[in-house]
Amino acid sequence: MVTIRFKALEETLNRKPLHVEFLSLKTSDYYAENVFDKKKMEKYLTKDAYRAVIKAIEQGTRIDRKMADHVAAGMKAWALEKGATHYTHWFHPLTEGTAEKHDAFIDHASAGVFENFEGKQLVQAEPDASSFPSGGIRATFEARGYTAWDPTSPAFIMNETLIIPTIFISYTGESLDYKAPLLKALSAIDKAAVDVCQYFDKDVTKVNANLGWEQEYFLIDSALYQSRPDLILTGRTLMGHASSKDQQLEDQYFASTPARVQSFMRELEIESYRLGIPCKTRHNEVAPNQYELAPIFEEANLAVDHNMLVMDVMRRVAKKHNFQILFHEKPFAGINGSGKHSNWSLSTNTGVILYSPGTTPKLNLQFLTFVVNTLKAVHEHADLLRSSIASAGNEHRLGANEAPPAIISAFLGDQIGKMLDQIENTVTEQKMTPDEKTELKLDIGRIPQLLLDNTDRNRTSPFAFTGNRFEFRAVGSNANCASAMINLNTIVADQLKKFKIEVDGLIEKGMKKDEAIFQVLRKLITESKAIRFDGNNYSDEWKKEAAKRGLSNVPSCPDALKALITPKSKKVLIENGIFTEKEIDARFEVHLENYTKKIQIESRVLGDMAINHIVPTAIKYQNILMENCKSMKELFSEKEFKELAQNRLELIKTISSHITSIKDKVSKMIDERKKANKHEHAEEKAQAYGKKVKPFLDDIRTHIDALELVIDNEIWPLPKYRELLFIN
Ligand code: ADP
Ligand code: MG
Repeated sequence: MVTIRFKALEETLNRKPLHVEFLSLKTSDYYAENVFDKKKMEKYLTKDAYRAVIKAIEQGTRIDRKMADHVAAGMKAWALEKGATHYTHWFHPLTEGTAEKHDAFIDHASAGVFENFEGKQLVQAEPDASSFPSGGIRATFEARGYTAWDPTSPAFIMNETLIIPTIFISYTGESLDYKAPLLKALSAIDKAAVDVCQYFDKDVTKVNANLGWEQEYFLIDSALYQSRPDLILTGRTLMGHASSKDQQLEDQYFASTPARVQSFMRELEIESYRLGIPCKTRHNEVAPNQYELAPIFEEANLAVDHNMLVMDVMRRVAKKHNFQILFHEKPFAGINGSGKHSNWSLSTNTGVILYSPGTTPKLNLQFLTFVVNTLKAVHEHADLLRSSIASAGNEHRLGANEAPPAIISAFLGDQIGKMLDQIENTVTEQKMTPDEKTELKLDIGRIPQLLLDNTDRNRTSPFAFTGNRFEFRAVGSNANCASAMINLNTIVADQLKKFKIEVDGLIEKGMKKDEAIFQVLRKLITESKAIRFDGNNYSDEWKKEAAKRGLSNVPSCPDALKALITPKSKKVLIENGIFTEKEIDARFEVHLENYTKKIQIESRVLGDMAINHIVPTAIKYQNILMENCKSMKELFSEKEFKELAQNRLELIKTISSHITSIKDKVSKMIDERKKANKHEHAEEKAQAYGKKVKPFLDDIRTHIDALELVIDNEIWPLPKYRELLFIN
């Protein structure tokens, strides 16, 4: 009998790379052809409607209903010309994916069917969305949820459908998605940063947060994927002995890309370009069959939409190329996991990146102001930041040895670090002498030079300054990075507001502006010192050192989520207008439930595979061994038999003992699941799943992986690590 594994292997060996036709030699010929961007708006909208949309994008103004009708008319004309038959409101519920419900453009009238799409359809919709997670918000009030148009992210066409980015809120106005709070956080940082920029440049009227994500992923042949129930149902392998070779030779990182993967990447890029996603770099990652895609950074709301969109495109294009894409943070034990490094910065309407050292001492003081306030915010709210990246998948990655640890710290690099030390040591409570001030300013003026001379990078830091931005590396590959962006922008906005109040206070007391800024910076540098760490974050010494510094180290997801509901976190989120208390409590519950469900599913899948795939295979092989021993016993004398068959007899015993352990542990795991399910409270349930059920996953796996090593390769039912990781 040929196992499904061998059928799959045969299929993969016959694969050829798909031919991908370039649409044109010049990318710019078709870039954003499927996006209702400014160029198309100019062509299809009335002058007034065009101006209204641009103003909404640039200044956050509202678009009234009459204007929305005009916009809808233009959008419809464009979409129909492009062959779209349907439209949809597209939103990001709290499921880590996207959601859409398509409606045909047609409508009935007495005269027959006509293409209809008006302002009211553009602006708002009411999807029957009662089964999206809401943390009880919709249960207690109305079952209804509404989507509302986000004019700052352009509509686009995909699969003959006009797709309109929207927020998703409840009947009573609570946000049920990631976009609504993200827009609030972006507006908070805009306002707070503009106010601080006013100290340095009166022309600054708008500050945008930027995001450049780096999406890591694995590509697995689809036939092999289809024969692994664990991959299909949980996104990761729940069993599998390490391959004799995996990433130890480090021969994969930046290596040349296999032909099939190359044509996948080519098609992915073409599809992304047509959707206006500025893909820039692609390369092989550290682990076998692991890759990365990174675009040029964009305004954060647009960048988040583009990330969600590109993940969708990636899944589809991968399928076409007979690959399955894995976004899970840790699909393979013992092999590098995947992240979504989130490069974050702020930039002004005057074209200045606030985390980029400037050309004048004044601009550099502004740069330092933003760096120091960011450090202070991260120090103050490290736990809240940590909670924004907590998930069942990322739990495998954070704290595991190759990835950012669960301790939040910030890397600055030697030069900036020294600069901060200097401010801390030079500036005193008393006024600085003119000489001291000049000297400090001169030094500050030298920052760009210093940075140019040095490219020191630290790949182990979860939050690293990288020249003109901070790179938040602990974000999970499967996450909606809006979650991290909401918290990061909020805490920095909050800190900038506090900074401004303090500086203004000193100025009011008669201190000169620069002097006041230095004074407050010095205080913030001292207060946030503990968060700065330039050493190796993966080392054990750091864990000890971090504990001494009072930094938290929270590897467990349910524990990390708790930071969301502390009075301190609630205060900063509520005061900055991001969430109401009810929304925070609801989100806390949603994340906990999500965690519980993930572990529950993994536990069920593992139980099923262990009992129905692995144990029968082990028994089959055991029977072969026993038959063999029986025949040998007939052939040989007692003494010879004992000598010759001894290791087989041992093996039979070993297999038996693994089978017994597996069965025993699976039933214990089921008992723990039953107990955990009895908890009414979401938090207790998640804790029970994390602490009581989850450990069985690793424990049972150990026995299965040991069996994989001894059982005949011919009858092993599941594609092995070496096959999943090296066939491409
Ligand atoms: P690395 O792998 O070295 O971290 P990559 O080139 O893969 O770097 O990714 C860097 C990402 O950072 C890209 O998405 C890039 O557009 C983005 N980026 C560069 N400068 C900024 C900035 N000032 N603000 C936000 N993102 C930035
Ligand atoms: Mg990076």
